[in-house]
Amino acid sequence: MTRTIAALLGTTIAASTLTAAQAQELNLYSSRHYDTDERLYSDFEELTGITINRIEGNADELIARLAAEGENSPADVFLTVDTSRLARAQEMGLLQPVESEILEERIPANIQAEDNTWFGFSQRARIIFHAAGLENPPQTYLELADPAYEGMICIRSSTNTYNQTLLASIIENHGEDAAREWAAGIVANMARDPQGGDTDQLRGIVSGECEIAVSNSYYFARAIRTEVEGVSGSIEMIDWVWPDQGGNGAHMNLSGGGVAAHAPHPEAAVAFLEYLASDQAQQYFSAGNDEFPAVEGVELAESVAALGEFEADDVNLSAVAQNLGLAQQIFNEVGWE
Ligand code: FE
Repeated sequence: MTRTIAALLGTTIAASTLTAAQAQELNLYSSRHYDTDERLYSDFEELTGITINRIEGNADELIARLAAEGENSPADVFLTVDTSRLARAQEMGLLQPVESEILEERIPANIQAEDNTWFGFSQRARIIFHAAGLENPPQTYLELADPAYEGMICIRSSTNTYNQTLLASIIENHGEDAAREWAAGIVANMARDPQGGDTDQLRGIVSGECEIAVSNSYYFARAIRTEVEGVSGSIEMIDWVWPDQGGNGAHMNLSGGGVAAHAPHPEAAVAFLEYLASDQAQQYFSAGNDEFPAVEGVELAESVAALGEFEADDVNLSAVAQNLGLAQQIFNEVGWE
C-alpha cells in the first residue's frame, strides 16, 4: 500500500457525494485525548477544509449523551477505545453502517463490525508481564489459572472493559466451561484484591507485590517512551511473555469508531474514518498512545517495536462482543471483584 494520504483522500472525496455545504464541518464525539490526536485533526482539516468540532468526554458519558440526543444529535463520528463500548453503541442503535471500499480494504475484517457500524483504527495487546528472572512464567492466558501461580497474579477489576473483552475472547476460543474455570482460577491466584489501572499492575511487579501482572501493551510501551512513575525507573525488573504463541495468539483489543446514526454530515464522517485509515494518520493514531496500527505495513512507533514480534489472535472481535454478557455473568459467579 503506497498511496499517499492526498491520493487516498482524493479517492475518498471523488467517490463520495461530498457537497460544499456538507463539507464545512464535522462533529466528533471522542473519548480519546492524546496529544498526537491534535496533529491528526489539524491535518484532516488542512487536507479537506472540513472543520472538526470536538466534544470529548468519557466513553460511557458520550454513549449516554448520544442516546439522550437521539435524532437531534449533532454527532457525526464517535471514537472510543475497547470493543465492548463500540458493541454497546452498536446495540443501542447509535451507529450507522458505512459502505467504504477504503475501509474494507485497509481495516482487517476481524476488527470491523459485521454490519460495518464500527471499525478498529489501532490495536493493543493484553500481555503477561512477570518479574525478570521468574522461572516458568505462564505462556498462555489459560496457564495463568494454573494453581502453580497461586498468590502471584496482579490483575485489575472485572469492571474493567479490557478484562471483560479478554474473558469474552476466551469464551470464543475455548468455550464457556473453560472460560468459567479460568476466571475462577485467576481469582484463586490473585496476589491481592483487584485494584487500580493496568499501570498499577506493572507497579506491583516493581514493588514485589506480585510476580505476574496482566496489562495492555501500551502502558508498558509508554513507560519505555516517557517517564511513568514507579515503572520507568525499574523497567529492567519487568519481563514479559507474548501469550498463546503457537496457539490462538495474543489477545488484541482495539480503539475505533463509527458514524453516528443521525450524523448531520455523513459524507464528511466517512471521509474522516477513511482518513484515519491512511498510513500517516495510522502512525499518529497509534504512536500517540503507543498502540499497534490497524493497517498492515504501517511503521511502528519505537516504543511499540521494542515489544518485539508476536502472533496476534485474529479472532473476530464482532463475534467476541456477543459474549460480553456471559463474561459479566461469569465474573459475578466466580467472585472476581
Ligand atoms: Fe487504557
